[in-house]
Amino acid sequence: MCRMPILDARRAQIKRVGKIEMILNVTNLSLAYGSRIAVDQASMTVAASECVALVGANGAGKSTLLKSIVGIQNSFGGSISFDGRDVTKWTPEAAVRAGVILCPEGRHLFPEMSVRDNLLLGATKLNLSNAQTRAKIKEIEELFPVVNERKNQLAGTLSGGEQQMVALGRALMSQPKLLILDEPSLGLAPLLVERVFEIVLTILETGCSVLIAEQNVQSALGVAHRAYVMEAGKIVKSGDASRLSTDPALLSAFIGVDEI
Ligand code: ATP
Repeated sequence: MCRMPILDARRAQIKRVGKIEMILNVTNLSLAYGSRIAVDQASMTVAASECVALVGANGAGKSTLLKSIVGIQNSFGGSISFDGRDVTKWTPEAAVRAGVILCPEGRHLFPEMSVRDNLLLGATKLNLSNAQTRAKIKEIEELFPVVNERKNQLAGTLSGGEQQMVALGRALMSQPKLLILDEPSLGLAPLLVERVFEIVLTILETGCSVLIAEQNVQSALGVAHRAYVMEAGKIVKSGDASRLSTDPALLSAFIGVDEI
């Protein structure tokens, strides 16, 4: 299996400095759309400074689980705790204030607003001073040069890759403690996919935890410390990402590789 050696080395470095305190605990969480169960007693954890991948096929329930963590979908069973407090019923606004930020599948930028204004939206709930906002924007524009180059352009006129950088930048404007990325590589060319995962590692180096749902299993396991595999609403496998990246059943199911 082809792995990304630079990403692997950087991930190993992050692992050495990582703490083992769990900041997110999802326990036996169940969600449904009407009578259809989309997430079935799922349990997972994310530690401080850790990158956790949630992998699975289309419709496995990944997005539904992520949305429930940020208060967008209500569960009918189980619990979620963040930073030691029960947040099972919290609102998306409370999640943002606590630093649990979802960068949604499909980016969801405001196409008729400029790149800069889309970024600023990420900071609206933080009550930052003008100077703090300017400093934050500068930080994001340094991380994503294209965001700086295109700051006055309407977001809807950017390419898919550029839009993904703006979506990541907007999420970072919210000063996440836990950044949740839903399919960040969807629809991107291979070089941009690699860039997105490099950025994930840069984010991890700041101490932020990352939970990443991906159908691009190979890339996700290339940056994650641990991973959970979801099938038909259930977590069916979990463990060390390096170990899972050589799991024959996983390779065959999601990567189309029959032999390692
Ligand atoms: P994808 O990567 O394709 O988004 P996923 O693993 O994120 O897949 P979900 O989007 O969570 O999966 O969907 C889980 C199940 O719930 C699927 O069967 C899907 O059709 C269904 N579902 C998702 N959203 C809704 C909705 N708003 N109303 C009804 N059913 C839904």
